[in-house]
Amino acid sequence: MGKIILTGDRPTGRLHLGHYVGSLKRRVELQNSGEYDKVFIMIADAQALTDNADNPEKIRQNIIEVALDYLSCGLDASKSTIFIQSQVAELCELSFYYMNLVTVSRLQRNPTVKTEIQMRNFETSIPVGFFTYPISQASDITAFKATTVPAGEDQEPMVEQTREIVRKFNSVYGETLVEPEILLPENCVCQRLPGTDGKAKMSKSLGNCIYLSDTAEDVRKKVMSMYTDPGHIRIEDPGKIEGNTVFTYLDAFCRPEHFAEFLPDYASLDELKAHYQRGGLGDVKVKKFLNSILQQELEPIRARRKEFEQDIPGVYRMLKDGSDKARETAARTLAEVRRAMRIDYFDDRELIESQALKFKA
Ligand code: ATP
Ligand code: MG
Repeated sequence: MGKIILTGDRPTGRLHLGHYVGSLKRRVELQNSGEYDKVFIMIADAQALTDNADNPEKIRQNIIEVALDYLSCGLDASKSTIFIQSQVAELCELSFYYMNLVTVSRLQRNPTVKTEIQMRNFETSIPVGFFTYPISQASDITAFKATTVPAGEDQEPMVEQTREIVRKFNSVYGETLVEPEILLPENCVCQRLPGTDGKAKMSKSLGNCIYLSDTAEDVRKKVMSMYTDPGHIRIEDPGKIEGNTVFTYLDAFCRPEHFAEFLPDYASLDELKAHYQRGGLGDVKVKKFLNSILQQELEPIRARRKEFEQDIPGVYRMLKDGSDKARETAARTLAEVRRAMRIDYFDDRELIESQALKFKA
């Protein structure tokens, strides 16, 4: 059996640095590695509607933004199938069957669902669709027989829930579905990049993001106002590295060659950190260094985006072709699922013949 990737993003806004280090950059590398038979990249609009039901226009407007972010980072429709979730109706049918294999209490225990419910202040008014979205994610993953899900740490409980559904399905109905594995970024800080405000996660919903499509000036401003160590008031004060977002971002983005290029007074990140901790190194200097690194990474992405923005109808055509292709694959899996669940009545000649015999007797 070959290796297959499925991963995606909710079109609730443009993509940010958290998406980039948590999943997007890796996807592009994996896409180009030649090690995967198929790569499916999904824009999860149906999932985004589970907590944006009253704002469909937001989702509609952001589909193209996410598609442009994908293309500008190097996802390539000739190597990956890029598609829109709602255009693959088979996914809903799979969810409907998987719902019977999951208990309410198991969903309530899902840590990501718990945190996200708190974050959205749903309290007792949780939409059923939102509550059950881990099941819908299981459909997305299994419909494509994905073996590998490159994602950030917040997705770990989702992939675990999918694995449970797969095991349950296969044990009840016979070996049909494939158990996926999550592929987390190797660099720990990239598994959950904090927001510019120092909050635990950079997230569209929290408004603490540096977007891939931000202008150079926006990025500079956001970096210069980033959360650091509140106790580090004068330059000569000793500073803290832990929980200091600027250093966390350096852990995520800084490579040894950046010092020679942008900050030749220091030989390595360890040296820079040691000076900060000792005292005598100001935030502004460190922030300027981070800004140079980020600008270098983001500049080619911004330039490619400008090019793709010149052919928006072409991007929609690419999404339509991808959605048609994804639908064919999902339909094949759904047919297998129906057969396994014994709800393929009209394709089963043996059933019809045996019933005929029974009633003749
Ligand atoms: P929303 O607030 O609408 O949920 P989001 O910013 O959390 O949006 P998602 O679309 O839910 O983004 O996540 C898409 C992918 O990006 C997932 O694989 C997720 O793990 C990864 N990701 C999102 N934010 C981060 C982050 N701050 N650090 C690392 N990975 C992240
Ligand atoms: Mg999210």
